[in-house]
Order: sequence, then structure tokens, then C-alpha cells
Amino acid sequence: KDDKDWSTEQISQSPKKAKTQVMKISIAQTSHGPEWVNNVDYFITKWHLGRIKSTSGDNVCVLLSITDDVVKVLMEEILPANPDVLEGVEDLRQLSYLNEPSLLQNLRVRYSQDLIYSKAGPVLIAVNPFKKVQIYGKEFLSAYQKKSLGAPHVYAVAAAAYDEMMREEKNQSIIISGESGAGKTETAKYAIQYLEALGGGSFGVENEILKTNRILEAFGNAKTSRNDNSSRFGKLMEIHFSAEGKICGAKLETFLLEKSRVAQLGNGERSYHIFYELCAGAPPTLKERLKLKAANEYNYLNQSNCLTIGGIDDAQKFQKVMEAFNIVKIPQEYQERAFALLAAVLWLGNVSFEVIDNENHVEVVADEAVTNVAMLMGCNSKELMVVLSTCKLQAGRDCIAKRLTLRQATDMRDSLAKLIYASLFNWLVEQINTSLEVGKSRTGRSISILDIYGFESFKNNSFEQFCINYANERLQQHFNLHLFKLEQEEYERDGIDWKKIEFKDNKECLDLIEKKPIGLVSLLDEESNFPKGTDTTFANKLNQHLKANSCFKGERGQGFRVNHYAGEVLYDTKGFLEKNRDPLHVDLIQLLSSCKCQLLNLFSTKIRHKSLKPATFSDSMNQSVITKFKGQLFKLMNKLEDTTPHFIRCIKPNPNQLPGLYEENHVLQQLRCCGVLEIVRISRSGYPTRLTHQELAVRYRLLLLDTKISQDPLNTSYAILKQYNLSTEMYQVGYTKVYLRTGQIGVLDERRKYVL
Ligand code: ADP
Ligand code: MG
Repeated sequence: KDDKDWSTEQISQSPKKAKTQVMKISIAQTSHGPEWVNNVDYFITKWHLGRIKSTSGDNVCVLLSITDDVVKVLMEEILPANPDVLEGVEDLRQLSYLNEPSLLQNLRVRYSQDLIYSKAGPVLIAVNPFKKVQIYGKEFLSAYQKKSLGAPHVYAVAAAAYDEMMREEKNQSIIISGESGAGKTETAKYAIQYLEALGGGSFGVENEILKTNRILEAFGNAKTSRNDNSSRFGKLMEIHFSAEGKICGAKLETFLLEKSRVAQLGNGERSYHIFYELCAGAPPTLKERLKLKAANEYNYLNQSNCLTIGGIDDAQKFQKVMEAFNIVKIPQEYQERAFALLAAVLWLGNVSFEVIDNENHVEVVADEAVTNVAMLMGCNSKELMVVLSTCKLQAGRDCIAKRLTLRQATDMRDSLAKLIYASLFNWLVEQINTSLEVGKSRTGRSISILDIYGFESFKNNSFEQFCINYANERLQQHFNLHLFKLEQEEYERDGIDWKKIEFKDNKECLDLIEKKPIGLVSLLDEESNFPKGTDTTFANKLNQHLKANSCFKGERGQGFRVNHYAGEVLYDTKGFLEKNRDPLHVDLIQLLSSCKCQLLNLFSTKIRHKSLKPATFSDSMNQSVITKFKGQLFKLMNKLEDTTPHFIRCIKPNPNQLPGLYEENHVLQQLRCCGVLEIVRISRSGYPTRLTHQELAVRYRLLLLDTKISQDPLNTSYAILKQYNLSTEMYQVGYTKVYLRTGQIGVLDERRKYVL
């Protein structure tokens, strides 16, 4: 039934009238020209438009539209295409035939006309144009405010959220997802832009929210192989409104910053923008004070053969960051301290070690690098050298210092760099929150905008991908539940006879991850707490305990597979335990508290404060990274569940960030991953075609044989459905609309064409 619930009879009976039929054929390009391969391999699947010339048995002869070739294919390899009148419809649900090639074709047609937004029922689909499209700015903002424009747009989503918040007095959320580089962050900015344009009260914050983004992007975004401006953290921006509907404040929450990037880069990628911006844009006197050199002098930055981004002026960006710092009202002296810490991180990467014995023990090389770090952190360089090359061990009552090996010392140095950077990032988020939290007397309502990393599946997947995919698994569940609910509510409201439908949820996969006492998370924590635990024993444990779950597949050695809603991912357990433990060295925290830099003191107090809390409270210091993340996710989901969600799915049309290039397979994979097909599937099991009685009457009245039927739309609807003998399973008549099963509207359209 799936995808093919159109009547084959219909075609064999009237082949000429079966207008455009799409064929699904995979092509293997050979030197003899195209060769039709029967079995469809997803990666080389190409869809062609064609018309059926004749049929015999299971075979169909199809005239291809592009080449005028006639090919013979199996009936099961073709799918019905939509009539030309439906080409490029705004809402994919308007399509008579819902199948993958039809969705792809429809989005392609729209994309080629710069219509980057479409609807899939309640979900907005945004296909990244990778170029400036003239659909934003004042005129469009006001058009969507006045509702004089109705085309799908992120402004329309923001408008709907705002209107619903005001009308229903309920908090709203805009949940944006998609793969890296698909346009989530840009889309989130446009949503905020719309809300900002609604204006604020006397608070003035409404102009600040977007500007604080500059700080976040400088410190939290980096160039990756997928996106020149990739956000390496998740964020939830909650915008608060007064009872009058004016913006009166905002609150930012961030999730899981990728710390590893500070010390380690993949080839062609960059570290966080701010490092390069500081090196390029700091005024000479500041450079002097920070002992700053050019970016290529720093090991943390020059390891990846990529220092600049085409079309981006880092120096100019630095000016913008400074402006934003002022807007957020970070005092001048703190600004300078923050820059000093960035410089300290850079110099830390240049700190080197010398092996002093045959057991690979080391000593810090006393050079310019370590002197500068000490100066910038405000500590004694001798002490710093000790901390970086030794660890204290408790031996009975005594505390003895043990020298570190080269590997351990390098790790210690990188841990310090990451600790400083992550603390600085969190501190900036707090500063931003302080400045946005203006209207304390919150009466009211909020709209939360979630821009979180999308599902990731690489060749090599580690702990980070696991966390990201776990988050997406949770969001997908939210998405499923909600869309089903919406769908079912509409049916109930319109009074149609409707059996609640079951849907394929992702509970099994969430159980695999979260179930207590035995799930991925708890096994990971258990093994992380176990002193002898290694990445291999962890993998073995998973194998041993999780076999029964159908979403799990063990692998030999250090690997395991999870069948996520968006596809199977092979994880490598290498590094899982260490990343999950994320050990905080007491020596490092002590060092921070001994520094003369107030920011570092503050960071160390924060960390200590958490760690000193009695265990009966929440011992978050001892919590593993995954457990903290799980807690954050639960809080997030609770918050979202209290809101009316609006979903935006961003699509990246090609992997090369190029304008005008729509790569079908790339798009298809995302439509599948981010569940667009899922919504379509949901619609298919329900009644995807909805027409008001009025619409149906206007469109098909001319088909009526019995002209004596009254002009009343409801009666006309009934009469049309009856005349065509549509099986009662195929439609429902509600108070306001007729609901049709997939393909049924196509039946009517064929008749209509015949009559016309
Ligand atoms: P994500 O957050 O999903 O990783 P971004 O929002 O950073 O992706 O978008 C990646 C790039 O795509 C942007 O830097 C921008 O060049 C381009 N882009 C995204 N959305 C739009 C848009 N609506 N109009 C023009 N360009 C866009
Ligand atoms: Mg982003």
C-alpha cells in the first residue's frame, strides 16, 4: 500500500488520460548510456517525469519527458505525478499524490523561483538559498504583521506564534531543526527579527536581543566543513512579553558547547571565531598589552591549515563584538579581562614540554609562551609550570607531587585551556541574560525559539554525536506526539468519525538510551565511575546488556550501532568514558583561585560552589556530562511541553553551500531525517486532502450529472462524492470540510480533465 495506493486499474483502463506519471528508476551511468536498473538503490535513485504509453501485464512503456526516450519499466517502479496545476503548491498537503518524488519535485520548483519556504501541513520547510533573497526587511515584516501576505515564511510562523500567544494566552515555542548549515540559526534570527519589529514597551530590550547574537556567534560559532558559521552549542531564546504584548525581556539558555574545538581542529576547520577576530582586530595598544601575535603564530589555530573564511573580515567583526559588549553593558575592564583570557588560551597552546627522563616525564619549557600565560592569568609562572607538569597525590597524610608524562601534561594543558574558555562562554551568557532581563515584572507570556544542533551521522561518530542525536531523538518524540495530536484534534473539531491512529513512535530508541537501570546512559555512567573501565569494557557491557533492544546492534571491538529515527548510526566508544567524566582537576581550580584575575577567581568560585554543595542537594559537580545533559534535556522538554509548538524544518539543498543547486538525494535524505516524510506518512494514514465544501463545490460542480442538486456546497459535496462512488472508507464529511484519503482527489481530477 505504502506509496502506491493509486489504482493500477485506472492507468491500464485509460492510459492516455493518465497524464504525467513519474517513474522511479535508478540509473547506473555506463559508457553505453543509461542502463535501467531494477532494484532501487537509494543513493543513485533518480526520478524522471514521464507519461505512460502502454501497459502490458506488469510492464509499462513510459515516454520520458526530458529525453523523449521510451523505456519499459515495471509497474511497481513508477509512481503517479501530480497534475500541472499543482506544480509548486505552497503546502505539500495540497498535492494529490504524496510520494517522495512529488515532494522533491514540488520543493524544487519552488526553490528555483526563490520560494524557499513551503508548508508540510503545520510544519514550515525552509530550503537554504545560500544567497540573499529579497523576502526580508521592513516591507515584508509589516506585510506579515498586517496579514496582507500569506505565503509560507518564517515571519508567518512568528506571527502565528505571537497571535496565538495573545489570543489563547498560552506560551509558544518555535522549534527549528535541520542538519548543520541548513539555516537554523539564520531562521531563528529572522523569527526574532519579526518579534522585535512588533516593538517593545519602555524597556528598550527589543533592539538588543539580535545584537547579543553577535557575542554568541563570535564565541560559540566556528567554521566547520559543513558551515562557515556553524553554531557549536544549542540555544533556547525565551522572549518575554508584557500583558500588552510588548517585549519586556528575554532569557537565553545554552546547551553543551563543544569544548574540544578549543584545542583540537579537523583539517580545514577553525576554532571559535573570536580568536581570529581578536588577533586581526585588536587595536595596537591592546595587542601590546595582551602580547598578541598573528593567528598563524598560535598552535591551537594553525594546526588545521585554515585561518580565514572567504568573504569575512575578522577585524571588522571584532569591532562588532566590542559594540555588542557595550550594548550588553559589560564594563570596560571586564571586557579587557575577557580578551586577556582569550590570549591566555592561545598562548597555552604554545606551551611546550621537555622530556626529562626515560619514563617520558616532562618539565615545562620556560619560554615566552608560559610567561605570557602566567602574565595574562595573573599568576606566578613557576606555579603554573608546576601545575602543568605534576599532579598531587595523597600518600597517607602526605601530599606528594608526581611528574606527568608528556601525554598527561599535554592533556592537563588542554584541559586548562578548555576550562577557561568554557567558563568564559558561560559567564558571557550570564552577562547577556542580566542585560536582557529588564522587565522584571513579568506578567506574562513568552515565545521560546529553539535552535539546536541537528541529527548527525558521520563516518566516525563519538560521544558528541551521541549527545546530539539523543537530543534529537527527544525532540522527534515531541514532534510526533504533537503532530498527531494536532491532526486528531482537527478531525474531532470538525466532527468526523475518526478512530485514533497509532503512530510509530521512537520510544524503543529512547528506552535504549534512557531506561533505568539498564540503558546506554546508565551503563555509560556506571563504566565511567568504574576505575578500571575502558572504552572497550564499555562496548562489551553494552553488547551484553542491550542486545534485546531492537534499536541496538553490537559491533566487534569499540563500536555499537543505534537505529535512530533518522537512520542507523555507528558509534565508536573511543573517548566516551573520558569525555563523559570530563574530570576537573583540583589543581587547576586551585590555580584559578590563586590568580589575580577577578574573572578567573569568579570561575573557580562557581565551580567550587557547585562541588561543595552537600550531596543531598544536587551533586551536579559529580554528575557526568551525559547525566547533566539528560537533566537539561528533561527541563527543556518540560518547558516545551507547556507551550504550543511551531515547527520549522531547515533543509540544506547541497553539501557545498552553493546557491541555486538543488541536489535531490541530499534533500531527500533530510526530508527523511527530519521527519517531513513522517508528517506526510501521518497525513497518508489520515485524510491528507481537505477541502472546504465551498472549494469542492466550485472545483467539481461541473462534474455533476444531476443538475437538480441544490447549490448548497454541503449538498454538492455529498452529491459529487456519491456520483463517483468513492468508497466510504476513502472520505469523511465534516462540518466545514471534506476529508479525502490520499489519491482520491486525483481520481476526481482525472474525471474533471476528461470532462474539460
Ligand atoms: P545552521 O545554523 O543550520 O547550521 P546557518 O543558519 O548558520 O545554519 O546557515 C548557514 C549559512 O547559510 C548562513 O551563514 C547563510 O550564508 C546561509 N543562509 C541560511 N539561511 C539563509 C537565508 N534565509 N537567506 C540567505 N542565506 C541563508
Ligand atoms: Mg547554527
